[in-house]
Amino acid sequence: MVRASGDVQIPEVLRDKSNLIAGRWVNAVSGETFAVKSPVTGAVLAEVPKCGPADVDAAVAAAKAAWPVWKATPVFKRAEVVLRMAELLRESAETIAQVLCVEQGKPYEGEGLPEVLETALNFQLAAEDVVRMETPIIPMRDPAKRVLTFREPYGVMAVITPWNFPTVIPSEYLGPGLAAGNTIVMKPASTTPLSMILAGRCIQQALDEAGLPAGVFNLITGPGAAVGDYLVAHPDVALIGFTGETVTGEAICSRAGIKMTLMELGGNGPVIVCGDANLAEAAKAAAFGCFYNAGQVCCATERILVDATVHDEFVRLLVEEAKGYVTGDPFADGATMGPLNNEPTALKTELHLDDARAKGAKILLGGARETGKPTGLYFPATVIDGVTKDMLLNMEETFGPVAPVITFATDEEAVEIANMTGYGLQMAVFTSSIKRCFWYADKLRTGNVVFNDSTDYWEAHEPFGGGGGTRSGHGRLGGRYTLDDVTHLKTVAIDIEKTL
Ligand code: NAD
Repeated sequence: MVRASGDVQIPEVLRDKSNLIAGRWVNAVSGETFAVKSPVTGAVLAEVPKCGPADVDAAVAAAKAAWPVWKATPVFKRAEVVLRMAELLRESAETIAQVLCVEQGKPYEGEGLPEVLETALNFQLAAEDVVRMETPIIPMRDPAKRVLTFREPYGVMAVITPWNFPTVIPSEYLGPGLAAGNTIVMKPASTTPLSMILAGRCIQQALDEAGLPAGVFNLITGPGAAVGDYLVAHPDVALIGFTGETVTGEAICSRAGIKMTLMELGGNGPVIVCGDANLAEAAKAAAFGCFYNAGQVCCATERILVDATVHDEFVRLLVEEAKGYVTGDPFADGATMGPLNNEPTALKTELHLDDARAKGAKILLGGARETGKPTGLYFPATVIDGVTKDMLLNMEETFGPVAPVITFATDEEAVEIANMTGYGLQMAVFTSSIKRCFWYADKLRTGNVVFNDSTDYWEAHEPFGGGGGTRSGHGRLGGRYTLDDVTHLKTVAIDIEKTL
């Protein structure tokens, strides 16, 4: 029974050879490693390979060699293998989730275990959807012609992912990417690679059981600026799936040239609380959006825009809700928030709060790192009022457990503030008017809008991604929509008069 992170047994397989290349678990060519430390306890959990260009070359070569066979594997067979991956992930869910929680910091019952189960679900959904990828037959002017379309995989797909959801975000690419017939080279984030390495063992086991050639799925660890950068520029990589910060996405796009990219980037999601909203519901959802995973979610509630007429009552309710979030060990009873995952995130949270305080905003709850904890990464649920448009809390993604309250006078002003930062991933509005719902749905520049629930509401199969023209990226993750993005449409015209 695990009661604290210190009780989690790091599986023996994570002690050595954590790179998967051409079906074999190996070390980096250089033999170099780096340490993965727990933000919960500060302990070193494992050393993983610090890869470089030679490892990337080997992984890409393996994926390239395996592609013709994997692509030619009948789609129902590919779906069967991907479904088996889902099964194996479910069987190992508890072990993977325990490791995920000690390396990432999130609570086990409420967040870590559900994340791994959603990871498995993403493989299952991809397997179910891929066999129904019908494509059009196109009527032509020329009566001799029959024109058909086929969805084709790109080839070698690079997948680069962040540390806030160490297995579910990779699965959003890997499930559809593999099911559609691409082969993969993936690089997990450097602070949270261990749970994905364990998940990778399930993926490889399913491929081995099916007798498929080595190299369909490859996994390498190492610094983003070196390994990731070299990988995305590699001439044999055809497609890139990236989730991470907007600036990193921009750097990758400039290195990738004309390669196809799916970019799932930063967000700055507001919750807009209208004068006609159910304030208790709005406060509950806003707190959840701010503090779930300690605010380290791309669609976290980064800002709360409140109608001035309901401001006082809403803020009172919000503070009450926020007091219910308590930091602690992911396995401790009553802990609803873990530590932040890493020091840069803690520093950015402090920077944004310092900026707001200096410009006149007022802290109502929390506001500084907690002392007396095993690491310096525990940050309490924080509520700050009097935030204005010019503050970093409004203009930039904070990614910490902060609820910044901004007041607005009209719906038009709320839309102006919501849209002004250039990010547009997921926004939420609380209102009891269906007319207002449609008005906001039309005016908000974002990929996703939620009415009367949190910005952190999603289901695995709904299309999710940045709104057109925003800094939150392009492409859709979720259900069958990703299958469109990881394949290209091939058109085949046949002159039947000239056939035998
Ligand atoms: P990050 O951009 O720092 O890193 C993401 C990944 O990119 C890591 O694996 C990293 O090693 C790698 N990387 C870094 N520099 C690289 C380079 N030059 N070339 C190639 N790879 C490189 O992001 P992060 O701090 O790990 O994650 C947090 C960010 O991710 C937030 O901005 C958050 O909003 C965003 N995010 C977006 C979504 C979404 O669906 N839109 C989901 C989750 C997180």
